[in-house]
Amino acid sequence: MRFFGDYHIHTRRSDGRQNEEQVITAALEQGLKEIALTDHGPLAAGIGVKNPEVYLELKERVENLHPLYPDLTILVGAEANIRDLDGTLDIPPEVLSQLDIVIAGLHPYTLPTSVQDGMGIFVQNSLRHLGKAQREKAINANTKATIEAIYNHPQLDILSHPGLFFSVDMEEVARACVKEGVLFEINCGHEHPDVSDIIIAEREGVSFIVNSDAHFTDTVGDLRYGSEIIAQLEIDSERIANALDGGGHTRWAKKHNAFTF
Ligand SMILES: [Zn+2]
Ligand SMILES: [Zn+2]
Repeated sequence: MRFFGDYHIHTRRSDGRQNEEQVITAALEQGLKEIALTDHGPLAAGIGVKNPEVYLELKERVENLHPLYPDLTILVGAEANIRDLDGTLDIPPEVLSQLDIVIAGLHPYTLPTSVQDGMGIFVQNSLRHLGKAQREKAINANTKATIEAIYNHPQLDILSHPGLFFSVDMEEVARACVKEGVLFEINCGHEHPDVSDIIIAEREGVSFIVNSDAHFTDTVGDLRYGSEIIAQLEIDSERIANALDGGGHTRWAKKHNAFTF
């Protein structure tokens, strides 16, 4: 499968090892038409941006770069952290509304909004070995946090690596994605979700997006994991929002910028 864009890429502004020019060069080498720079939200310890204003500074910088790279559309977005059971994100709404694209996901070591929320999502999850009841509680909490984030943020485009680090009820999460027009990510950097969860999501009717989650230039546009699974499961290209052929982009209901190709 061929793809026109890679919409989940980190730069040095969070935990990537590459600056925006290096990402752009790598994307052009891969033949991409469009990319999104999506650094981690500020409250994931050690890996996030310094503060939400960083996104707005990057937007300005990219606006200046655009004329130099007429063959590539460069979007600036974020991978926000889901912080609690209400699905609160760690980027304020006034910044979210200025971004070209918004991704959200659960990440380890995210500062919860309260101790109680932290106990609900993050601690229980690491105590899974205590037994079935605790595990179920953790899955319920992770699922609730995820679907609340989907329902409460109309700006949300993509749910990143569903179920990674934190197990969720995949059917419920997939259903929320379908209802709210949020794209279900196949994350090639983490090779996640696995085939069984992608089958569940497909059955529920999600639209997929395949992203690299690149932190280094050599993985920008590396979408092989997704490509292989899509071929293996014979998923129709019209279900893939960034597939070059098949019209999948029409599934990206919330996309801010019109497609130019
Ligand atoms: Zn992530
Ligand atoms: Zn990421």
